[in-house]
Amino acid sequence: MIVEIQGQLYKIRTKKEILSENFQLILSKAYHSRSKNRCVSCNVDMYISKVENRYYLKSYPKKAGEHKENCVFYKNGIENFISEENIEINIKSEAILFKTTPTQKTTDIQVINKAERKIKNFNHLIFILLDEAYAKAFNIVNKGKKRLSGEIVNPETELVGYFLKKELENLKIKGKTIKEILKEKQVFFKTGEILSSNKRQDKSYRYFDGMKSWIIPEYVWEQAVNIAKIYTNIISPPYFYLRLSGKRKVYRFFILPVASEKIFIPVESDLERKVANKILKKDYGIYKPMTTLHTKQILTKQIAKDYFRFVPPDIRPDFFVFKKDKIGIIEVVDKNNLKIDKYRERLEYKESCYSRLPSYFEYIRIQA
Ligand SMILES: [Zn+2]
Repeated sequence: MIVEIQGQLYKIRTKKEILSENFQLILSKAYHSRSKNRCVSCNVDMYISKVENRYYLKSYPKKAGEHKENCVFYKNGIENFISEENIEINIKSEAILFKTTPTQKTTDIQVINKAERKIKNFNHLIFILLDEAYAKAFNIVNKGKKRLSGEIVNPETELVGYFLKKELENLKIKGKTIKEILKEKQVFFKTGEILSSNKRQDKSYRYFDGMKSWIIPEYVWEQAVNIAKIYTNIISPPYFYLRLSGKRKVYRFFILPVASEKIFIPVESDLERKVANKILKKDYGIYKPMTTLHTKQILTKQIAKDYFRFVPPDIRPDFFVFKKDKIGIIEVVDKNNLKIDKYRERLEYKESCYSRLPSYFEYIRIQA
């Protein structure tokens, strides 16, 4: 999503990002300037509201439905579990976990759309919780270590999965924790890694998690794999996955491409995976920001202060690399994308910001 605030464009992945300290500063200035603000992606005017010293970007009354369905500001869109009032996660119904996927016999397009929306909401929720879990795991395994010490390590997938489970279980729906709800319904969730997968003759999918093979219905698999798609190209495994299932039924299935086995580094393309694995061979700590929400805690206070002096809060490099006395900032560039004006302009803008950073930052563009 791209939003315009006081004439400047910012890219966000979740409404939560506007609550970061640096974004709040931008919103506070815009609030007093009475500038025009809008969601550029949907061409919908928005305004800034101030509640208890926090600033929010809001749609005008009755206009929230004018955003596109995949916009975080759309009224019943992918982020409808985030309350407009305080940007907290507030899930109103269990449908996000259980709303059954339509059977092949279902032809009612409204029923199908409604079920698919729940799946998209769920996937987006897990994405945000996973971002949180990843930052927690990274900070725990690197607790007390200076970011420029050359001793930064990467969290294991198992630890990230553990924190994701905690994040999800502790959420409440109508006063009950998700942990209690799942127990009542005898639904379990499992996280792990998918090392390979294939389509079977009956059109279902089989995946291998390093120990065992599992079968997943075609529809469930294809909804999950949407997140691993770049246009129509599907990024290959390994994937991190989360499965929510009862005795006979898979309710939800979430996947996210990762760089390699056992350690957790999300990637957004096969090219990014290649680059991440090269860096890993050198034994460096890597952090891939999934959103901009945790940049400050990952870099730690002093480094983040230097960083945000020159880099706007919406900018997310592909990787931060922690070396001895250096912090690498990596952009992985598929040269085909450079033909796309918007992509190239955004990259050049990012690079002009990185070029002003203090010399212990080291910017590298990796192009292929
Ligand atoms: Zn929008």
